[in-house]
Amino acid sequence: HAKATERGSVSFFDAAMHANAVHHLRLDAELRRALDEEQFEVHYQPIVDLASGLANSFEALVRWRHPERGMVPPDQFLPIMEETGLIVRLGHWVIEEVCRQLAVWGPAVVNVSVNISDREFWHSGLLPHVLHCLGRHGLTADRMTIEITEGVIMRRPELALRLMKDMHDAGLQLHIDDFGTGYSSLETLHRFPVEAFKIDRSFIRGVMSGDRTADLVRVIVAMGKALGLAVVAEGVETTDQLAFLQEIGCVTGQGYLFMPAVAGDAAGELVGQVLGGGPVVPTQGGPTQ
Ligand code: C2E
Ligand code: MG
Ligand code: MG
Ligand code: MG
Repeated sequence: HAKATERGSVSFFDAAMHANAVHHLRLDAELRRALDEEQFEVHYQPIVDLASGLANSFEALVRWRHPERGMVPPDQFLPIMEETGLIVRLGHWVIEEVCRQLAVWGPAVVNVSVNISDREFWHSGLLPHVLHCLGRHGLTADRMTIEITEGVIMRRPELALRLMKDMHDAGLQLHIDDFGTGYSSLETLHRFPVEAFKIDRSFIRGVMSGDRTADLVRVIVAMGKALGLAVVAEGVETTDQLAFLQEIGCVTGQGYLFMPAVAGDAAGELVGQVLGGGPVVPTQGGPTQ
């Protein structure tokens, strides 16, 4: 229903906006149904000790197994769920599912990291839900890590500090995700009760490029050491990157070099295996099929 005006470009713009709104509404309805029908899956990417190639912890990454479109990666549905608030329901489901999987695996899988978005983080039901799910499956709180980005924390630092202290006091681990892409990095690391931070993939991608990125990563790793924090390198894809990270003393990493995110059963079987045999090319439609 484009408005009829003298200026064709204006009516075209209105029509495009309308089409976009219709697309959003349709996708939102589909996502609500997907939640009701449990079309989502949690896949798990190993967090690897770079010296040994062993992993006993994973990051939980949600996927949508669409009845016609196959496996849909999170960047194609999380933004709209964040916008409508539906992410809170999805997040609750992910946490429940992770607890169920942890109980199935047993103690060989020490910890699972769960990504928490902006909306989820500020929701007062988050911590009670996490503790309820852990308790129902007979799990202690140290089995779960909460990943939050600096960007989320910096929106309301004082409130964030209070919420994170509550989580920390409850026994959960807290990690800063996508480190280096936000602001006030040093302050966040220094004042907030976090155990680790994850160097964003964009930095790891550049370490062999011959520019200053390698120096930057070296400094970030040294800073983590000085602050007594664990450092995880995200997006390790090549043996060159791995060699560099080992040389500068980065202890843990994730990436396609070791393993993309895989379904729960397959992930459980990775514990005790040496990972990192060679670069893995992710299959079409995302690394998890
Ligand atoms: P993230 O938390 O930074 O997760 C890392 C992303 O990098 C994942 O993408 C992972 O599959 C991908 N990755 C891992 N290793 C490599 C590599 O070597 N190379 C490349 N190119 N990519 C690699 P994914 O699964 O598509 O997730 C994207 C983002 O969606 C996540 O970024 C996270 O912010 C969000 N997300 C995923 N699952 C959840 C969830 O359950 N809840 C919430 N709130 N957010 C989630
Ligand atoms: Mg993450
Ligand atoms: Mg990340
Ligand atoms: Mg990232």
